Amino acid sequence: MHDDLARAAAIVTSFDYDPAGFGRSVSPPLLESSLFTFGSYEDFEEAFRRGGVPIYTRGINPTTRLFEEKVAALEGAEDAKAFASGMGAISAATLAFLSSGDELVCVRNVYGDAFKLFTRLLPRFGIATRFVDGTDPSEVERALSPRTRVLYLESPTSLTFELQDLRALARLARERQIVTVIDNTWATPVFQRPIEMGIDVVVHSASKYLGGHSDVVAGVVAARRDLIAQITRITYPVFGAVLGPFEAWLLLRGLRTLPVRMAQHYQSALQVAAFLEGHPRVRRVHYPLSRSHPQYELGLRQLSGGSGLLSVELDTDERGVARFCNALRLFRMGVSWGGFESLACPASVLRASPEQPKSVTEFGVPESLVRLHVGLEPVGALLEDLDGALGQL
Ligand SMILES: *Cc1c(COP(=O)(O)O)cnc(C)c1O
Repeated sequence: MHDDLARAAAIVTSFDYDPAGFGRSVSPPLLESSLFTFGSYEDFEEAFRRGGVPIYTRGINPTTRLFEEKVAALEGAEDAKAFASGMGAISAATLAFLSSGDELVCVRNVYGDAFKLFTRLLPRFGIATRFVDGTDPSEVERALSPRTRVLYLESPTSLTFELQDLRALARLARERQIVTVIDNTWATPVFQRPIEMGIDVVVHSASKYLGGHSDVVAGVVAARRDLIAQITRITYPVFGAVLGPFEAWLLLRGLRTLPVRMAQHYQSALQVAAFLEGHPRVRRVHYPLSRSHPQYELGLRQLSGGSGLLSVELDTDERGVARFCNALRLFRMGVSWGGFESLACPASVLRASPEQPKSVTEFGVPESLVRLHVGLEPVGALLEDLDGALGQL
């Protein structure tokens, strides 16, 4: 883990712009400009012919580019492209590789709006999705067909934190020329680098740990240069989910503390998981780097650490879940995660929305499950808070 933290720290603090041009500013320049001008007809024409230079911000913006380059370096990818949200990144990264008649294979308990994209939108364009449990590579192999173009992974999965064997699945997909896409939001590139394990495309909701301060909604895709080029040619410009330069600048600020934040989230989450596992009113804790996780060994092979997000099944019913949540003082109730704050998000609340894609109900997420984000508050105070709320059950 310490090598990974040092590696990430070197990347997030390096100068990627010419500091001499900006008074050796330690903070990167924020270029809030929608367009960039040219001194001559020839330069203008050359920019269009060759590409790769700032012309218009729904294309390339130098501040956003700095963020993309940092994420590419962190993921060990050749290139990256930033988006206005994680969903902007996910829809552009999957649709870039799919056409009518193709199939997508996806893990169960995938992020809710990705589930919505695959089950509500893609079928209208003749693209079918098969869902797999994902914990057994041979089960995934059986779901692949000659029409499968994309294998979509999320390891660990949302709410239930099941892992997929990334090296094994990457190998299966490679042999069949299937593009593998993984949502790496949970682990961040500090703790999991799927491209080094043979995965093709990594997507992130940068709204979570990459930003890290609960003040930005953003997304990013990292991959080989030719795959990013395929995305930037069509789905990126036409869907238009473009990240603004100010948001990119905030992300660059957040990235500087990513390694220290992740180290702290990990330490605190391990303590919270251990505490919850020992509590009589807890049925089960879902945290991939906890010894009680059924895939703990696999977790150690592909994760060098874990984040602050876990879930707990309480020994109670929905009314008890409500009592538990209302008794929490430090953990606030809210969606999302990845910032300073500790948060509680009960599955029973997610189910209440008529618009909620049925991934929460369809795949058997128990109603007594509460997702917890272990934030950066002193862990002793968090344990006390949880102990107090569990006492209300
Ligand atoms: C939040 C989240 C997303 C969606 O990201 P947005 O930035 O909200 O669009 C995708 N995947 C995972 C795992 C997430 O937690």
